This record gives sequence, C-alpha cells and structure tokens, in this order.
Amino acid sequence: MTLAVNHLTGGYSGIPVLKDETFDVQDGELVSLIGLNGAGKSTTINHIIGLMTPFSGTIQLNGLQIQDNVEQYKQQIAYVPEMPVLYPELTLRDHIEATMMAYNLDRTEAWHRAEQLLQTFRLANKLDWFPANFSKGMRQKVMIVCAFMTDAKLLVIDEPFLGLDPLAVDDLLTLIDAKKAAGVSVLMSTHVLDTAEKHCDRFVLINDGRVNYEGTMAEIKDHYQTFGDTLTDIYLGLA
Ligand code: ATP
Repeated sequence: MTLAVNHLTGGYSGIPVLKDETFDVQDGELVSLIGLNGAGKSTTINHIIGLMTPFSGTIQLNGLQIQDNVEQYKQQIAYVPEMPVLYPELTLRDHIEATMMAYNLDRTEAWHRAEQLLQTFRLANKLDWFPANFSKGMRQKVMIVCAFMTDAKLLVIDEPFLGLDPLAVDDLLTLIDAKKAAGVSVLMSTHVLDTAEKHCDRFVLINDGRVNYEGTMAEIKDHYQTFGDTLTDIYLGLA
C-alpha cells in the first residue's frame, strides 16, 4: 500500500479538526476525498504532505513516516494545490529546473518528460514566462507539469477539476491513468462528483474531520440507501 493514514488526529493551534481518521490508498489507485466545505479535506492533505504535524496517529508512505527521513518522505510525494503557488521571480523554465533539483531527477530524462507535458498543456512556447504572465488556470497547469514530471509514488491533487478548461481536465485524467498504470497512487479532493465517479476507484467521505464511509460511489450510495438516506444526508453527516 502506498499511503496508510492511521488514527490521525490533528488541527490548528492545538484545536483538533481531524478526529481519528483512518484510510489508505493502494498502489496504482485513484482515491478521492469528498465532503462539505470545512469537512477537513485540505487539512488531511496538509498533514499527508508534511505541512502539518499530527497531534496523534501515524501517516506512512510505503512504510516510511516523515520523521524517519523528511527528504525521502517528501520526494515520494508530488502535490498540486488548489491555489497555484509559484515563485514570482522564477520563469517556467526555472520552475522545471527547480523541480528536477528538489526530486534529484536525471536532467535529460526530466526535460524529456517536461517537454511532453508542456506540449500537452500548450505551454511549450512559454518557458521564459514569469508567473505574473500566466492566468490562474495556466499556473495550475505549470504545477501539474512539475508534479507529473517527478518519480513521486503518490500524487496529491487538491480540487483538480475547478479552474481547468475541459481539454485540460481530459488531458489530466489521461495522465492520471498513465501514472496509475505505472503503479503510482493518486489522492485528490473534489466537489465535482460526476467526473470523479467516472474515474475514481474509491472515495473517502469526510464529515467534521471524521471518515464517515469509504468505498466506491456505488457502495457508498448502496450503503446509505439501505437506510433510506440521500446523498445530502450523507454529506451532512445525518445518515
Ligand atoms: P473546502 O471544501 O471548503 O476546501 P475542506 O474540507 O478542505 O473545505 P478544511 O480547509 O480542511 O476543509 O477545513 C477544516 C476545518 O479547519 C474548518 O472548520 C476550517 O475552518 C478549519 N481551518 C482551516 N484552515 C484553518 C486555519 N489555518 N486555522 C484554523 N482553522 C482552520
């Protein structure tokens, strides 16, 4: 298994937001975190990528915890945030070079991968552009290029379907399929359930910092319909 989250409790300023979360992502699996605004999806992701430290519980990436080896742990993850974070003084070319260094990639191989990704997202002729020249969606594409050119074993993508044009969403889904086929695991959070339902292997439904249910969307719906509940009830944690 790539990612194992066990009894994770964590939050801000000592106040717990996540309460005893347990779930996993298997090798080559695409799993989506779903739940209402404020449910705890981004906070969960922030713990997994090492931005936040758990109050208790463990997060393991192929058996490795962040405190075992921070650099090795972080090199196993590539993260695409919902709000793109680029360095204003660095060009697109610089961002690609910086990614190569951060992930210790072979330059020739990494540039080969980057060029293919840049073609896919129509950025190949913009290598000398600075972030200020890009639209928000273009900045998101830059972050996708940087994440997908790595050898990370886990890709974490926060809300990939909002803000990208429909061609880019299709391209991203194709790239995710190729990563999955290579054994890479993908964890994302999304509110776009119809697209996610077609492509995700499993869902982890979070409500008020707790994992309410996990399974395929059909299993989740079946589980709750057994009790006559609607998706709204499920989302609201009423079921
Ligand atoms: P959304 O779908 O709106 O992105 P989410 O499921 O990702 O929501 P989180 O951003 O993880 O939710 O928020 C979970 C809880 O943590 C909310 O109650 C939120 O108010 C709180 N929270 C988030 N960021 C902070 C912060 N920096 N300081 C204090 N509380 C925070």
